[in-house]
Amino acid sequence: MNLDTYTPKTQAFLVDVHYSNGKLAGQSRVVSCPFCGNEHTHGTSLGHRTPHCLPHTVQRGRLKISDAHKNPGYELCEPSDDVDWGLERVYAQLWVTRARYRRLSAEHDRMDPWTAREKHAKKKLREEIDGIASVLGAAGVGL
Ligand SMILES: [Zn+2]
Repeated sequence: MNLDTYTPKTQAFLVDVHYSNGKLAGQSRVVSCPFCGNEHTHGTSLGHRTPHCLPHTVQRGRLKISDAHKNPGYELCEPSDDVDWGLERVYAQLWVTRARYRRLSAEHDRMDPWTAREKHAKKKLREEIDGIASVLGAAGVGL
């Protein structure tokens, strides 16, 4: 399985969409995104979609980089399809974890520490990166 091209299958629930006056406007598909965890809405047809994952999320009032941004997308499927949804979610999370590995590695390479504090921060980041690489290696994911 190639994480660069694999698009995980995801349950796409058909929901009614109403106008503000309560009249039925049509239907759409709602998914719990396997990459970012947010809910995304798409048209009713099944198949490949590019998710609307944001480059940042807000956590406890602070802006945080989302490593789920610019993922390869997912396949909208009927929720009743015979698919191991948990496994598909793991594939997506492996992609996100590898994106985090790559972002942090680039950040580490850009660091040019002068002070002991900065050198310590770079060393701690290296440890975090090595930890992520170890998890991805155990899962058989190339970096
Ligand atoms: Zn998303």
